Amino acid sequence: KTKVRRKPKWLRVNYERQSIKEIEVMMEQLSLNTVCKEAKCPNLGECYKKRTATFMIMGSQCTRNCRFCNVTNGKPQNLDINEPENVAKAVKELGLSHAVITSVTRDDLEDCGASHFAKTIEAVKSLNPDTTVEVLIPDLKGIKENLDIVIKANPDVINHNVETVERLYDTVRPEAIYERSIDVLKYVKEVAPHILTKTGIMVGLSESDEEVFKVMDDVLKVGCDIFTIGQYLRPSNKHIEVYEYVTPEKFEEYRVVGVEKGFKYIASSPLVRSSYNAQEAIK
Ligand code: SF4
Ligand code: SF4
Repeated sequence: KTKVRRKPKWLRVNYERQSIKEIEVMMEQLSLNTVCKEAKCPNLGECYKKRTATFMIMGSQCTRNCRFCNVTNGKPQNLDINEPENVAKAVKELGLSHAVITSVTRDDLEDCGASHFAKTIEAVKSLNPDTTVEVLIPDLKGIKENLDIVIKANPDVINHNVETVERLYDTVRPEAIYERSIDVLKYVKEVAPHILTKTGIMVGLSESDEEVFKVMDDVLKVGCDIFTIGQYLRPSNKHIEVYEYVTPEKFEEYRVVGVEKGFKYIASSPLVRSSYNAQEAIK
């Protein structure tokens, strides 16, 4: 049974239409999607105003159906061969010093989309040599050859979110496997120790402190550098319910524990999303 109904004041945000429109028009002209929009991110107003956004490549239809996520589950689209170049152009137009690129999960593709990720990283770097690149990848079915393709393109940060504590996988991420996600982080660090690894979870789904700390320990054990924690918000009433709104004080407690445990960087507060102010972590 859930504990709460109304959103507390620390989760209310203001939107400014003008800057949103401007970024949306640009993305449309370049046939690009953002996770900001597709996932109904609460920070969209703030990030777009600062002219930052997170690209979501390989279409807007996902082959998985996680119960917390607003991205549409459906028949995947053909890959747009111009997309890598268009992402690079958008990065340039926005003047991003740090670009974050994620994707839908493409279990239907032979390499799960790894080579499209690699091409996008390469295109962004070649057009924007001073921009650092962070990719937030799906588990690519945990296949090493797929991960190798992304690693070879040499992004500065590889993020793979574990999303929630181990106990909640069946209800929250039924098509994912906790251990497999940990192994993705482990493999990247083993093969390319210079690439920063990053992961994160949502809270507010009934996890205990011990379970949160266990995730921290599990990912630190495989050398994970950066950790993020934010409040889960229900995108619609078809999605899994919020169990509770975790207080800002509790987020701060998690942050302090994370620092003590040894993360190079940890962001923990109600509106943190893995791409929120992502450049801060690599300064
Ligand atoms: Fe987009 Fe990330 Fe900002 Fe949300 S936090 S609006 S997903 S860049
Ligand atoms: Fe959303 Fe990713 Fe799950 Fe697809 S795999 S439904 S994009 S969280």
